[in-house]
Amino acid sequence: MEILSTPSLMRDWRKAQRGTVGLVPTMGYLHEGHLSLVRASVAENDLTVASIFVNPTQFGPNEDFERYPRNEERDLAMLKDAGVAAVYMPGVDVIYPGGYETYVVPGATAELREGGSRPGHFRGVATVVLKLFNATGADRAYFGRKDAQQLRVIRRMVTDLDVDIEVVACPIVREEDGLAMSSRNVYLGSEDRKAAVVLSRGLAEAKAAYAAGERGADVLRAIVRSRVGSEPRAALDYVSLADEVTLAEIEGRLERPALLSLAAKFGSTRLIDNVELGLPD
Ligand code: AMP
Repeated sequence: MEILSTPSLMRDWRKAQRGTVGLVPTMGYLHEGHLSLVRASVAENDLTVASIFVNPTQFGPNEDFERYPRNEERDLAMLKDAGVAAVYMPGVDVIYPGGYETYVVPGATAELREGGSRPGHFRGVATVVLKLFNATGADRAYFGRKDAQQLRVIRRMVTDLDVDIEVVACPIVREEDGLAMSSRNVYLGSEDRKAAVVLSRGLAEAKAAYAAGERGADVLRAIVRSRVGSEPRAALDYVSLADEVTLAEIEGRLERPALLSLAAKFGSTRLIDNVELGLPD
């Protein structure tokens, strides 16, 4: 497995390969969710590149950039085991050298939800993802549905900026009790870890109501709010029921496939989760 630390080394490696390349962008501290993306890429491409980069421009000034969990050695062993051909692992000053000033600014898809609570987050995400696409020259890129708004922002960017890459979406991988896997779950103390199950439970209850015929957007949002609200350790940030593609918030009745998503804090740990309504599982 090659380890490449600059865009030019990455590009030279790609030019020397034949066949298709799949890219799995990550911020490291890998878990089964990341590995499910790697497996999808390994199955569908001749070669898989994983990137590990904790991207400072997608963190707000009071967020967890400095303390974001890192374990390079373990990540590399996991990627090697999973059949990754190369790991792109640039430093911050390689991605953003002195004089850096160019950013991708997403539009309406990036507003509200994560974009509302984390101003500038998707500008950082879109910028770094485009840089990863350019450096790796990948044919396909794999993203988790866990970061549902991110996935839509990236699809929109690829369409709008004529980026020659296929974006592949992969299902959310969950712990046994339903909590969506996340590198940030490591921050949770044991009480908060137990309490965090209300997120997936609230979403599952709304999904069950939807399956039983409920179509009222307010009712579906209220089911989630009520379940999360029943847990005193949870501080709900938002619950959103939005158009599956544009993420325009739905009022009244739900008549098209929709994304039901939320964010909540347990102590200082902010978690997100979502389910899709009206689409095959
Ligand atoms: P991150 O390292 O958190 O930036 O995540 C890197 C990629 O892994 C993103 O495309 C995420 O959506 C995806 N991912 C993270 N957690 C999960 C999960 N539990 N299930 C599926 N994909 C995930």
